[in-house]
Amino acid sequence: MSWLPVAADSGFGLDNLPYGVFSTPGTAPRTGVAVGDQVLDLAAATGDDVHATGSLNAFMARGPSAWAAVRRQLQERLGDPAHRATVEPHLLPRADVTLQLPVEVADYVDFYSSRHHAEALGRMFRPGSPPLPPNWEHLPIGYHGRAGTVAVSGTPVVRPCGQRKPADADPVLGASQRLDIEAEVGFLVGVGSPLGTAVPLADFAEHVFGVCLVNDWSARDLQAWEYVPLGPFLGKSFLTSVSPWVVPLAALEPARVAPPARDPQPLPYLRDDDHPWGLDITLEVRLNGELVSSPPFREMYWTAAQQLAHLTVNGASLRTGDLFASGTVSGPGARERGSLIELCWGGAEPLTLADGSTRTFLEDGDVVTISATAPGPDDSRIGFGEVTGQVLPAR
Ligand code: MN
Repeated sequence: MSWLPVAADSGFGLDNLPYGVFSTPGTAPRTGVAVGDQVLDLAAATGDDVHATGSLNAFMARGPSAWAAVRRQLQERLGDPAHRATVEPHLLPRADVTLQLPVEVADYVDFYSSRHHAEALGRMFRPGSPPLPPNWEHLPIGYHGRAGTVAVSGTPVVRPCGQRKPADADPVLGASQRLDIEAEVGFLVGVGSPLGTAVPLADFAEHVFGVCLVNDWSARDLQAWEYVPLGPFLGKSFLTSVSPWVVPLAALEPARVAPPARDPQPLPYLRDDDHPWGLDITLEVRLNGELVSSPPFREMYWTAAQQLAHLTVNGASLRTGDLFASGTVSGPGARERGSLIELCWGGAEPLTLADGSTRTFLEDGDVVTISATAPGPDDSRIGFGEVTGQVLPAR
């Protein structure tokens, strides 16, 4: 219950309370919390300067007991009418604010943890061979992305240039002709870890602050030519878009589900029977406003807790602001795939849109929007907002 009117289907009720960074004309970026159609100016409402720094990093670094205390306080102040008079002056219509990149991204790592996605790409690129590489069922495969080109939703997607190699011809430099999306879920580290220590799977919630949506824009032609043997590089690093609202991990407790059964059993540091972190998040991918796919995150083979345990098992330290993304989320169904290369099967089966046009890869002017929801308490929904971007012509 709340003194604040929140539409039942808002996705931004008191059970969610996602954090972001916003500004208004003439004011500095500061932390806000989305509730219904409004944003609560947290710096003004609490008087705590940690919320006036222009990023979530300093607050994320305080750790889970501080996160829980603020969350409890917000739920009380936004729920109990006794607080209305002191809280209401710090609410702004969300439509009137500009949302910024919510965190200073430290390191960015992207995984490859959907079996359906990995098998589809394996079948396309290595026909006649086993679809999964031999390590896939033993460890969450990942690559290091470029933290400095992670940008907030709405940032234009300038078609990248790079080297690609046409079949039976020499390599050329030019604009990508196979620009694609990857619909993903991102996890933000709040509390770091010292160099030389591993973060066990059970400590996931001690380190991870919250969850956002990610579009890992991908130039498939650049990627195909460059990726052997060290993995993706310029085919990915031109831009990675994230949603502006960071859903607290605590808001996703009702969405926790058992992940798919693993066969073969992973090594002990990746066994998650006591700490399953499958999450029942349903993504939606829209191309020029039209729903083209609904990827189910609950199908992911490796969970974010396993990814975190794996990426620190060698003693790599974590830093506040580290972002690690799930990898393309794809389910078993034809309209559950999280990339165009899967939806159009490498270009062989173009998508037909409602206006009669067809698509394989993105055209200049196309707008891609990824949104998501998860179950909350009492049949409510937890919304993630959206991550969107429009493709602009190459420079
Ligand atoms: Mn990716």
